[in-house]
Amino acid sequence: MEKFECSMCGKCCRELKGFKLSDERQKEIFLKERDDMIKNTPLYTFQKPEDEGMALYEWEVTRLKDIASAKGFDLKIKPRYGMLSNMGTVIVVTWMLDYDICPFLENNKCSIYKNRPLICQAFPFYKTIYDAIKTDKKLKSLEIGPLSCPKRIEMKELSGTTMMFGQWKKTMYEVYGETFIGSSKSDFIKVFDEELIEELVRRGHIDLRKLDTQTFLRKYENRSISMYQFAVRKNIISQKDVDDLPIEVEKFGDITRENAISFDASKAPKDGSISNTNQ
Ligand code: SF4
Ligand code: SF4
Repeated sequence: MEKFECSMCGKCCRELKGFKLSDERQKEIFLKERDDMIKNTPLYTFQKPEDEGMALYEWEVTRLKDIASAKGFDLKIKPRYGMLSNMGTVIVVTWMLDYDICPFLENNKCSIYKNRPLICQAFPFYKTIYDAIKTDKKLKSLEIGPLSCPKRIEMKELSGTTMMFGQWKKTMYEVYGETFIGSSKSDFIKVFDEELIEELVRRGHIDLRKLDTQTFLRKYENRSISMYQFAVRKNIISQKDVDDLPIEVEKFGDITRENAISFDASKAPKDGSISNTNQ
């Protein structure tokens, strides 16, 4: 089976903004998904599509700023997605690097490889397994994302099949190796955030009216807080939960890797569907 091998062309590190997708049709689908998300969830976007960059999570922002500072520069970070609390405070959900070319790219190599963000570890995956665990979708929706990478391997033979989830993970690991593990870690945190947003809404902390973007941005200038800190203040999660998140993300990656390696198709249930119990 063909294996994914990053050629280290650096393309993904030089095209951080504006959804550089594999083709125009993919771009159309991706932008529609983005529009639907903004319309149908409490989320607002801080950026126009052409200015939107890769997502950074809260602990990554602090870590990258520290690394940049040790290298002698101030890192430019901007908010990416946010919500509005019922008290009028803007809650920042994700952040982004405010660059087209990543400032950590040196001689066409990542100078912070061991500390690179989750999105970089997952590239060119967009969303993969955890999304399925949550929604119990068929593999059709689990294709590798539309992000543009010259070495990307189409996994069409796996789409829409009824392959066992465990078998699917094994195959993805065989083809994509640690990049697939990176994608599972990235999905873990996406689902964590989605569940946190649902809980904040359920407890009535979020203003579900949709303001126009300019009003939302003005409110951001007045008062803002990051989502995890807001959730800690509301006693939904503890500061320890927040501090432990990077550790939990790594653990999830380890579990995914071990499961993919040890999956035994001969012991799998015979119904052939993706199953939450066969992780
Ligand atoms: S992941 Fe793809 S785009 Fe990025 S450096 Fe490797 S081959 Fe190039
Ligand atoms: S952090 Fe490293 S891998 Fe990620 S975009 Fe920057 S140079 Fe590329």
